[in-house]
Amino acid sequence: MKKKINITCPNCKKIVEVNSKYKPFCSKGCKSVDFLRWTNEEVSIKGYEDPTND
Ligand SMILES: [Zn+2]
Repeated sequence: MKKKINITCPNCKKIVEVNSKYKPFCSKGCKSVDFLRWTNEEVSIKGYEDPTND
């Protein structure tokens, strides 16, 4: 008997197919959205300049 494990997409909370190639995301769209968000955070942390630090 196969055990079914449900994964939920971290982006939209939809059920992700176990054999999804975008795991843990439901789709390519959600994967790229999360990746872009992560990348932007990374960039904003590294590129952050304190405006008061003259
Ligand atoms: Zn999703």
